[in-house]
Order: sequence, then C-alpha cells, then structure tokens
Amino acid sequence: ETYNIAIDGPAGAGKSTIARLVARALGFIYVDTGAMYRAVTWKVLQEDRLPIQESVVADVARGMNIELIPHAEGQHVLVDGVDVTKLIRSTTITNHVSEIAAMGEVRSILVARQKQMAAGKGVVMDGRDIGTKVIPDAEVKIYLTASVSQRAERRFKEMQSSGDDSVTLEQLQQDIKRRDQMDQEREISPLVRAHDALLLDSTLMTVPEVVDTILGLCRD
Ligand code: C5P
Repeated sequence: ETYNIAIDGPAGAGKSTIARLVARALGFIYVDTGAMYRAVTWKVLQEDRLPIQESVVADVARGMNIELIPHAEGQHVLVDGVDVTKLIRSTTITNHVSEIAAMGEVRSILVARQKQMAAGKGVVMDGRDIGTKVIPDAEVKIYLTASVSQRAERRFKEMQSSGDDSVTLEQLQQDIKRRDQMDQEREISPLVRAHDALLLDSTLMTVPEVVDTILGLCRD
C-alpha cells in the first residue's frame, strides 16, 4: 500500500532529520522541498541578479533543472548537473531564501514540480506548504514544531559538531524568529498548520520519540 506523508513546520523544528528517518523506516523517498527554494536562491545569487526582481527570479527558476537525489544521509541536490548540496546551506543563502520563497510565480513553478514528485506516492515530503498546497490529500500530515530557544539550540549544536562556529546562539535565535515571521506573514501560502495535520511539539521529545509517533500514525 502506498501513500504520502506531509511534514510542515517552522525553521529548525527538525523536519529534515525526522522526515529522513521516517522515510528510511518505511522505504519511502524523502523529498526536502526547502532545498528547491535554496537552489533557486543559489542560482540567483550566483548570477549576481541582485536586487531581486520577481519576474527575473521566476525566469531563473523556470530555466533551471533541479534534481533531488535520494541518499542515505538525506538527499543530494543538483542544479543543472552541479552538486550544490553543501553550497545551499550557507548563511548567505539562508538569509535570502525566505524573500525568494515569498514570490508567487516562483512558488507556482516549484509547487508544480513537487506535485509531480509526489504523484507516484511513497514520499515523505517536508516544507512549509506540503499539507496545505503541495499534497493536500496526503494520507498522513504532521505539523512539527518546537520552542524558538529549543530550535536555535539544536541548530547551534549541529553547527558546532560540524566545526562551524561562525554564528552565535543569539544570532541563530534571531534568524529563526525572522524566518518564522517571514514564512508566516507572507501573502502567498503562508506557513500554517493544515486543519487536518497532527500538531507535534517536539520541544520535550527525543528524535526516536517523534519518529515513532509518526510511524504509529502510518500503521493502520
Ligand atoms: O526548510 P528550509 O529551512 O531549508 O527552507 C528554506 C526556506 O524555504 C524556508 O525558510 C521558507 O522560506 C522556504 N520554504 C517554503 N516552502 C517550502 C519549503 C521551504 O516557503 N515548502
């Protein structure tokens, strides 16, 4: 039996970690849609297309090939054949991505591609509008969140363990608050919980607890 799982929520809630583990447990394909908005942002900055104009960004998005290749540690992201998996995680990209993601034309281009990816079923897709716009008929929908300080702390530890000490905990908190606000207040597809999504607050939960809760919803 195949079905789809939609996981939405604010920045740093652990969506990618959780989605990847759920996908692995079920033998599903994990699709990180944030990477697509990041890839468009990377391409725009690469081409030095600042200040950013919506029609220009839409042309860039339309003209680029984005491949999400499933991989044990997540997914690899290729833009026109170039591996940008690491590059799209830079602070510069993170600082500009919400601005790009607020553009209606860009969203409709990427959402159309995401709908195609989910059409075969058997995906765990994470993002901000998966349960509301991309796969509104997903069989399992989760809205994963956690307190701002918890989310910032997790990111901070993650970055430290990868040897990145370029940002402080306070900067991460500010960045998370700013992105939450931009994602929740934008006009097109703002970040909201789908009415039929399960609200999962992971502030006091471990990763295995969250994964097991979601898998529990899948086994009926
Ligand atoms: O999930 P991640 O932090 O990589 O996403 C980067 C940004 O892309 C988010 O802050 C949000 O602005 C945007 N995004 C979106 N819709 C999605 C996925 C990501 O607007 N489905």
